[in-house]
Amino acid sequence: MPGATRVGTRAPVVDHGPRTGDKVALTFDADMTDGMLASLRAGRVKSYANLRILDLLERERVPATFFLTGKWVQRYPDVTRRIAGNPRFELANHTYGHAAFTADCYDLPRLAVDELAGDVAKTFTVMEPYGGRQTRYFRFPGLCHDPAALDALAPLGVTVVDGDVVSGDPFATAWKPLVRAVLDKVRPGSVVIMHVTEANAAMTDEALPHILAGLRERDLVPAPLSEVLAAG
Ligand SMILES: [Zn+2]
Repeated sequence: MPGATRVGTRAPVVDHGPRTGDKVALTFDADMTDGMLASLRAGRVKSYANLRILDLLERERVPATFFLTGKWVQRYPDVTRRIAGNPRFELANHTYGHAAFTADCYDLPRLAVDELAGDVAKTFTVMEPYGGRQTRYFRFPGLCHDPAALDALAPLGVTVVDGDVVSGDPFATAWKPLVRAVLDKVRPGSVVIMHVTEANAAMTDEALPHILAGLRERDLVPAPLSEVLAAG
């Protein structure tokens, strides 16, 4: 399976693939916390699943990789089925409830070190029944990790994926800065970090067509993460 590593060794961390060729990975995180679930239940927020992003990727036949939290999958089973049913989309792991794995990770509540492996394993258990292109790629909330967090994942045989192009889409209020942030930094082998969480990343779907056009101008081709990391 893509991203699978030897069980019992410290999880490797990758930022990007080889700088040769023309492939780049578009990755979309699907965060979900108890606070976000409460906002949905109270009607303060309409959706944390940006279907306009899926519509566009499907219409343009663009490959992408989705880092899903377990709670997002449980809240959006139909959207998860839609992602898993697309042969161009890969599924990856973004923890169960988007808690921090280190101290001082934005304002996220923190899990104890002995809870980390169980949290990530539980997320795989939630995701796996959906099938599709499952992977052993994992991304930490807020990209926050330290040696203890990496060691805690050793029993799972995963590859940790950070990324080298941060779009800055969480809580963005305009789409142009996102386009600029991505196109200024993107290169062959890049892993671009975006979010599919709509209410918390409301400009991403507006930026995406411009990002795709900019990639075409640069002769860069979106590909599933496994293909970008494996390309030589
Ligand atoms: Zn996240």
